[in-house]
Amino acid sequence: DLTNPELANEAELAFEGALRPRSLGEFVGQARVRGQLQLLLTAAQMQQRTPDHILLAGPPGLGKTTLAMIVAHEGGRPLRMSSGPAIQHAGDLAAILSSLVPGEVLFIDEIHRMARSAEEMLYLAMEDFRIDIMVGKGAGATSVPLDLAPFTLVGATTRSGLLPNPLRDRFGFTAHLEFYGEDELREVLGRAARMLGLDVDGEALAEIAGRCRGTPRIANRLLRRVRDYALVHGGRADLDAVRAALELYDVDELGLDRLDRAVIEAILTRFGGGPVGLNTLAVSVGEEAETIESVVEPFLVRIGLLTRTPRGRVASPEAWRHLGLRSPASGLP
Ligand code: ADP
Repeated sequence: DLTNPELANEAELAFEGALRPRSLGEFVGQARVRGQLQLLLTAAQMQQRTPDHILLAGPPGLGKTTLAMIVAHEGGRPLRMSSGPAIQHAGDLAAILSSLVPGEVLFIDEIHRMARSAEEMLYLAMEDFRIDIMVGKGAGATSVPLDLAPFTLVGATTRSGLLPNPLRDRFGFTAHLEFYGEDELREVLGRAARMLGLDVDGEALAEIAGRCRGTPRIANRLLRRVRDYALVHGGRADLDAVRAALELYDVDELGLDRLDRAVIEAILTRFGGGPVGLNTLAVSVGEEAETIESVVEPFLVRIGLLTRTPRGRVASPEAWRHLGLRSPASGLP
């Protein structure tokens, strides 16, 4: 699953770690968000306080984890990493919060998947750097307040719409990460190629940039497959190598992979082009609704193959063209 921005095995994590920008200056693109973060961090530094809590919203693979690391690194602060799915009880969160050192940056990935009970504990922690711990059971239970070290929470979510308002409101700043433009992706790729000591020409980089779904993680991953291809075939990492490697891995000219095409094809052939509801669609392609909604759809919407309407998902005329099918609306020959 070369273009699933969510998958990452051990080898890939190591590879990503090596390519991660370490400062805002090295971070490519997202100029708006970079400017906003820079201001927030500089102001905090000038006043010698911990920066406000930061929420990073956007599809997977756009640099949320990287930015959390940069926030810690730029301020010379330690970083603790956790994730929503790992926090299934308030106690899990209490254990983390109570062991933070002053100024620490706490990164919670997929914060929308945290347990409800933990969420409520987090409100107080974010606002007052304090939590209430329940001691005992039943009628004899009492709550004991516990002061925390001041910390900066950096939350990441692919679905900011799923966050309850009280949680969203407690972040001093929300950054919305956008898909990257092709120029920016060429820059990401050029940087990665240099760091890997890879000789790739501009044409090849441009081709990868056009096929990586606006996502740096996928750009770097495709680059790695192209490198493998060139290595095995004893050639250069040129345009031909890119085309052959991406064909082998089922990534088409628009960067769509098998799941993207399955979704489009289902809407076109089984639901007459839509509208079709998310859950029905998910069942018909055998994938989780959340994956369709946070991974597949944002990109299909962005490149104009899909629109979301109140009655469901609708494929655009371009979607019919891209799959080489004839839209009923276009009339019979
Ligand atoms: P997310 O947390 O949003 O899923 P990550 O921060 O893990 O995404 O980014 C995935 C990979 O993409 C990182 O290893 C990094 O190498 C690369 N990357 C992401 N954003 C950028 C960027 N702006 N500039 C350069 N590389 C980036």
